[in-house]
Amino acid sequence: MEIFGKLACLTNWHKPNRRRVRWNGRNFSGHCLRCERAIVREAHRKWREEADYPDAIPQAQPR
Ligand SMILES: [Zn+2]
Repeated sequence: MEIFGKLACLTNWHKPNRRRVRWNGRNFSGHCLRCERAIVREAHRKWREEADYPDAIPQAQPR
């Protein structure tokens, strides 16, 4: 299953660590259990690497 997990990550099918998932104001973000990369939720059960998804990174906004 380890090989399958790595393949899944390579095809952008990450598995979030649910305990560490949090709402960043625009998307759910967290870390992948398998590859430990920062990921964001694009859709239900669909997670992408945060680096591939710049819109999801919260911007510093003046209040
Ligand atoms: Zn992953």
